[in-house]
Order: sequence, then structure tokens, then C-alpha cells
Amino acid sequence: MRSGVSNGKAEVSRRKFLAGSTALATAVGALSGVGTAQEAQESVRKASDKSKSDPGPTNSSIDAQNPSSVVPPVTDAGSVPMFKYPFSLSHKRLHQGGWSREVTVRELPVSKSIAGVDMRLTAGGIRELHWHAAAEWAFMLYGSARITAIDANGKSFVADVNEGDLWYFPTGIPHSIQGLGPDGAEFLLVFDDGNFSEYATVLLSEWMAHTPREVLAKNFGVGTQALNKLQTQELFIFQSEVPPPLTADQRAAAGAMGPSALDFAFRLTQQPVTQRTKGGEVRIIDSSLFKASTTIAAAIVTVHPGGMRELHWHPNADEWQYYISGKGRMTVFATGSRARTADFEAGDVGYVQQTLPHYIENTGDTDLRFLEMFKSSFYQDLSLSEWLSHTPPELVMAHLNIDKATLDALPKEKLVIVPH
Ligand code: MN
Ligand code: MN
Repeated sequence: MRSGVSNGKAEVSRRKFLAGSTALATAVGALSGVGTAQEAQESVRKASDKSKSDPGPTNSSIDAQNPSSVVPPVTDAGSVPMFKYPFSLSHKRLHQGGWSREVTVRELPVSKSIAGVDMRLTAGGIRELHWHAAAEWAFMLYGSARITAIDANGKSFVADVNEGDLWYFPTGIPHSIQGLGPDGAEFLLVFDDGNFSEYATVLLSEWMAHTPREVLAKNFGVGTQALNKLQTQELFIFQSEVPPPLTADQRAAAGAMGPSALDFAFRLTQQPVTQRTKGGEVRIIDSSLFKASTTIAAAIVTVHPGGMRELHWHPNADEWQYYISGKGRMTVFATGSRARTADFEAGDVGYVQQTLPHYIENTGDTDLRFLEMFKSSFYQDLSLSEWLSHTPPELVMAHLNIDKATLDALPKEKLVIVPH
């Protein structure tokens, strides 16, 4: 019955929306003297509840989460490739010490430029020492962890990260992550390659297991006896003890060389909000602020109930999204009169191809929080409002059949989140 209630609510808001859009469609149709698309929309709108009914088998719990698929907005049209994948559908690798699951181009074929991993580590749980061919950007979702690395000069980096903090490890830089007390951590890892897989990383344990003991003994200058207990298979994630105080680990790792001058971590919560409106707020973090993050730019967005991430697009890169909390609905408009709407909630991944227009509405009664990620050193977007308000007015009015007063009412700058 939950699905019935949910669909009913969606239907009510859809009707409200239709009341406005139909008037506009009629006006535009009357002025232009054509209206094939509008006529098609009219016929969808007029489809009776009987036509929309679904008497056959259906997955009612998935339907309840996806009202925009059950009854699409009349403005949706054509075949836009699927741009949603919930982490809940991913295979989970369970270990003593935690788990991980990934969304890559294999799960979500449109997501060619970025892949993501959701990982949980218990207190003391270790994601083993490793590196990979993609660069790694991370967002702490819960708890705290200790991260370690060495920089390209071999100098050590050891830091503790808490909820809301970020880190970035460049391609080929070795690193580890370990959950701290009281309850470890959960975090999102974002890789600058959709084809990345967490199954394809260089692991210390596997490297040692596939190198002859005699060679390792020669390399380290020790006897083979000392290496008798080396791992013979991968660790990946394993349970250990909570590490000693941070300063002790930092001092021991730095040794005589001293620590790295690079900071691979970033304290997001210490950064001021980039833009705040009545509708919400956004923090934009790219390499201009987070120097280490040379291949990933991010926007951390909060949309209040009733607010909307405004109509916009990104000239420079595809957008990979992770929904942290709340409920939302995104429509992506594509070339050839195509548009598609999908519903999102916590744990879902969304994707928008470079340059395609889109907007995201908060459809819930709590704040909608999500990440926008780009494979780029810099963040870039253009808004529909700033485009139209910085184009000669006669030119815009000739396109839209709106009067000067309406045009003048448009926001003059990018708001990111509406209302102003
Ligand atoms: Mn990694
Ligand atoms: Mn966007």
C-alpha cells in the first residue's frame, strides 16, 4: 500500500505541474501555429487512469521508489540512456574488518569518466596498502579513519579524517585507510576513470605472495626464515587493532626524511559556503582550493524542501552524482527532443553526460544532499537564467514569445539553487 500512497502523491504534484505547463504549451502552440510535440503531450496527459493502470506483475517496492518511471512527466520523451544506479544493487565484498561495493561503467554504462566505491571499515579494520592506475578522491560519510601515503619523493603522509573531510591520492601513489574508534568509518571513493575496478588494484599482500621468497630476502637484505609468515593471498580488507595516537604514527613514518610537504587531505567543513540562497547552499571544491586534487572537481550541494538545483549544464565534463540524504528527482534533457526523469535517494548514483541540460528538485520534506563530481581540475557550469539574461533581450523574446516584464524578472546571475 506504500506504493499506492507514494504514487498518489507523485500524481498530485504532477497534476499541479501540468496545470502550469499545459497553459504554456497551449500558448506556445497557438502562437507558433504548430504543436506536434504539444499534441503528443496532451494525449499523454489525457490518458485515463485506466490507461495508466498496471494489472500485471510489477515490483511494487521499486515502483514506489521511482514514481517518475511509473508515470513519467508528460515532458519526458524518447530514449535517454539510464543514468541511475543504486549502490544497493552492487555486489558487496564482505571481509573481517569491513566491506566495499562499486558502481562502474559495468553497472552504469553511461558512466564512462568516473567510477565510485562505497566502503565500510570497522574500528581497526584496514583497507590494505595499495595503489591503482586511477586517481582517488574521497568523501567521509561517517566516523573517522587514518589515512597513510608516501609522496612521489618518498616522504610520508599520515592524517586522521572525520565526517565531511576529503582526501585525494594521485595515480600510482601508495596508500592505506584504517577505521578508528569508536565505530570505524564509511566513505565514498571516486575514481577518475569509469572503467576502474576495486578488483584491479596493486596490493602489497599479492605482490609479496607472487614474488619468490629468495628474491624478497635478497631485496630486503634479510634471511628467508624471517619471511616465513608472509601472506599467500590477498588481504584487501582485514581486521587489526586501532592504531596508536596520530603523532606517534606520524613521527615513526617520517623517520629521518621528515614528513611530506603535501597535504592529501582537505577539511571541507572549515571552508566557507560558496553560494547560499533561500533554496539551499553549495560548496565548490576544485584544485584552486584543494591543491592536491588535480583531476577531480566537486560540488557539495544541499537543496532545502521545495528548492531546486536550477536548470544548467557543464561545458567541461560529465557529472557523476552521489546522493547522501533526502529525496530528489532529476530530469536530463538530451538532443533530438529527448528527456528523462529519474528519482533519487540516499545511496544512489546519478550521471549526466558533458553539456546535457539538467535540473534536480527536492521532492521530499527534508534537505536533499548530494555530491556533483567532475573529472577536471576545475569546476564549471552555466545556468539557463544567466544565459538568457546576458543575451540581447529582443533575441530572447523572439525565441520564447515572452514579454519584456517576464524577461526582466529572470535571475540575472547564476543562483545554483532556487529560489533566490
Ligand atoms: Mn585506493
Ligand atoms: Mn549539474
